Amino acid sequence: MADENGRRPACPKCGSGSVAAILWGMPAYSEQLESDLEEGRVVLGGCCVTGDDPKWHCNACGHEWGHCDILSQ
Ligand SMILES: [Zn+2]
Repeated sequence: MADENGRRPACPKCGSGSVAAILWGMPAYSEQLESDLEEGRVVLGGCCVTGDDPKWHCNACGHEWGHCDILSQ
C-alpha cells in the first residue's frame, strides 16, 4: 500500500526500516486501519494528546521519536 504521508523514516536508534506511524486521538475505524495495525505500519498512541507526542514508533527496538503534527493541522 502507498504511504499517503510520503516517506517513512528509518529508526534513528537502531536503523530498522520497520517503523510505524503513531496515530493519536481516536481514528475512524476502517479496514485500511485494521490492516495497517496488523502489519505494524501504524500503532495507536491513545487519546491523550499533549502536543509533544512522538510521531514514529520503531517495531524493532521500541524507540519513539519525531513530533506529532495533529495539533497544527
Ligand atoms: Zn529502532
